[in-house]
Amino acid sequence: MTVAEIIVDVPTMQTNRPFEYSIPEALNDVVVPGMRVEVPFGRGKRKIQGFVMKTKDQSDFKGKLKPISRVIDLKPVLSNEMLQLSYWLADKTYSFQISCLQTMLPSVMRAKYKQYAIPLDKTDPEVLNLFQGQATFEITNSLTDSQIRLINRLRKNEKIDLRYVVENKAQQIKRQAVMTDLNIIQLHEAKNELRGNAKSQVKLLDFLIQHLNDLPVEMSELQKNFGIARSAIKTAEKNKLLKIVEVTKLRKPEGINPEKTTKLELTDEQQVAVDQIGQAISREQPETFLIEGVTGSGKTEVYLQTIEKALQQDKTALMLVPEISLTPQMVNRVVGRFGNQVAVLHSGLSSGERYDEWTRIENGDVKVVVGARSAVFAPLQRIGLIIIDEEHEASYKQDDNPRYNARDVALWRSKVNHCPVVLGSATPSLESRARAEKGVYHLIRMKKRINNQNLPHVQIVDMRDAENSSIKGDFSPVLKNNLQATLENHDQAIILLNRRGYSSFMMCRECGFVLKCPNCDVSLTYHKDLGKMKCHYCGHEEPVPNSCPNCRSKKIGFYGTGTQNIEQQLNDLFPEARVLRMDVDTTRRKGAHAKILQKFGSHQADILLGTQMIAKGLDFPDVTLVGVINADTTLSLADFRASERTFQLLTQVSGRAGRAKKTGRVVIQTFNPDHYAIKDAAKQDYETFFKQEMYLRHQSNYTPYYFTTLISVANKDEGQTLKQSYWLKKQLQTALSKDAILLGPSPTMISRKQNKYYYQIIVKYKHEPKLHDKLLEILNETQADAKKGFTIAIDNEPQHID
Ligand code: ADP
Ligand code: ZN
Ligand code: ZN
Repeated sequence: MTVAEIIVDVPTMQTNRPFEYSIPEALNDVVVPGMRVEVPFGRGKRKIQGFVMKTKDQSDFKGKLKPISRVIDLKPVLSNEMLQLSYWLADKTYSFQISCLQTMLPSVMRAKYKQYAIPLDKTDPEVLNLFQGQATFEITNSLTDSQIRLINRLRKNEKIDLRYVVENKAQQIKRQAVMTDLNIIQLHEAKNELRGNAKSQVKLLDFLIQHLNDLPVEMSELQKNFGIARSAIKTAEKNKLLKIVEVTKLRKPEGINPEKTTKLELTDEQQVAVDQIGQAISREQPETFLIEGVTGSGKTEVYLQTIEKALQQDKTALMLVPEISLTPQMVNRVVGRFGNQVAVLHSGLSSGERYDEWTRIENGDVKVVVGARSAVFAPLQRIGLIIIDEEHEASYKQDDNPRYNARDVALWRSKVNHCPVVLGSATPSLESRARAEKGVYHLIRMKKRINNQNLPHVQIVDMRDAENSSIKGDFSPVLKNNLQATLENHDQAIILLNRRGYSSFMMCRECGFVLKCPNCDVSLTYHKDLGKMKCHYCGHEEPVPNSCPNCRSKKIGFYGTGTQNIEQQLNDLFPEARVLRMDVDTTRRKGAHAKILQKFGSHQADILLGTQMIAKGLDFPDVTLVGVINADTTLSLADFRASERTFQLLTQVSGRAGRAKKTGRVVIQTFNPDHYAIKDAAKQDYETFFKQEMYLRHQSNYTPYYFTTLISVANKDEGQTLKQSYWLKKQLQTALSKDAILLGPSPTMISRKQNKYYYQIIVKYKHEPKLHDKLLEILNETQADAKKGFTIAIDNEPQHID
């Protein structure tokens, strides 16, 4: 091959296509698709990065092609499947292909890093010669072509492998470990020579004798699991009984240490689901199943047993879960069943840890990948099954470029891999449920809870009525009494504070002044831990004022209820109760989330208080009460999904109660007790909600009856923003049929963020073949304007409209 098609790292519309370069003869069989290379670009001497998409023997280009300057990777970092996916993804999300390609790689490979070769065959003469006694060989840009060819050949013959290391950060943690040069006889002799009172030395030698074949063993493990003190190890080192060496080890994510579990005997409903999905795995058909299973119906066991079916056929499985339900509970269930065949990818991992997991997947060392949104790009081969748990979650859609929905990517990969996709939820998205209605997806319903446990008993408390409207604080008498009873029974309770738009801000009681961010149109929120007022959009912070900046009155104070405030109220009401709070503030530190849940799970607390993040996936047998402080806040969102989101949240959180042997109770406090989303959630009645909501969506021409595309325009100058918005609308009108509906331009709910004004246009349509190209054309034309601080963003099927 002499010519390579390359996507270059110049994110503009004009360069959003492959460019041809010639492959220098020296790199002839080195350059393959999926590698990154460095190429000259433009007139000057500028060298930039690019992805090799394709190699071929001839170019249609008449002139002389520029040559590739050097290879960055000596092995492909993206598979052919991923390269193909990038074309589709870029098109679907209106983003640059280069951003799509980069999104698929772990962040380590996007940052500054070094590349090393490590030997696999330590006896091969060429390998020995290359490494010259060193453990690694750094790959720099000063390697000669013949060295590159040699490395490439050795890698292809599996004599060496290549690794990436983030600069300035050791990619692999070095750990101290214990080794010995003594053999088993010498160890026994040494033990016999010890004086009787040298108990710790005897213990240590016994350990070495027993584990001689497992050495080196990490020192921390000796201390933690075998109770051997560091001082004892040091003494033995001094007496030349052992050596302390450094080992590198692929890190395993912390907090995952589950007991091995085995298959549960399935209920009839579970069996039906497993059989149907199992057959689809064998048929190797890209079919999609929607499991609509009430909370506690045992969906996870269905996932696990279908994954097992895929593994039995020598295939792999990909399981996506929302970031917030990537709790140790969920991860433990998967790792508990499949052990070290599982890789876990979530945002709690450092970039090094993520890279380790990615490498294990790429090397084919794992068969199951569990992860949040971006795990949909995991380099798994021979995928036999893709599962998306809580498929309705908005977090499967990325908010930034490329604005992809992991659900769509999963469906794409299922076609290429010829495997089924399973979407699971107690509250499916309307889109998915509607597709099942039409027969595009197979619907599997699981209507019963495990053990035939009843769904929890739900009581709706009308906060407008006389008894409740006069209360001090946020707890109605009904909720208080239920909490009291729960505590007396030594059961546990979960209290949800529906946080959206409901935090503590400062307001002056004299003049009504609200303390706002100087850059954004939002009120500043009080952060107790910092003792400061903070903006959630731009991070601006300022001290808490002690008088009103507007009228100087001292009557400025906090309004709104935060979790800290509710926690205080709980402490006042039930001084003896142990309360755990889970919100953005208490879960900032790595592993904090897991710790809180672990504590609650082992019943070291009576009440778990939290925001949306406690609503999903948790399975604690002693939880008999769920209380919702303010069911309404999500209802008031200016979003056509407001009812759907409210229904989902309330159904999910209610489902946390009474999952094991004990019956559950739920108390929902609301100012809209007659709203169908709240009434249906109280009955856990998805089907009724679905029908009602579909009717309303039909009336107002929204998803799933219409497609939606959201286009937002931002500029520092409000007048310019408006002008551009109207220009944009006019452009769209020329391309769209009469059936399309154009809304706006209107300011977004928070119309100013980081000193930029935001306006949006919503396009609703059924069939508009020209829309896609028109939007690309608009993107193209606004490129020049982007330099003037004018930005335009296109969100296909937006998950939030605000
Ligand atoms: P869902 O995800 O549908 O809300 P889970 O998968 O968390 O429900 O299951 C609820 C509980 O029932 C879990 O504790 C799980 O271990 C248990 N469970 C699931 N299937 C079975 C079964 N076949 N037999 C016994 N217990 C089961
Ligand atoms: Zn701000
Ligand atoms: Zn004032």
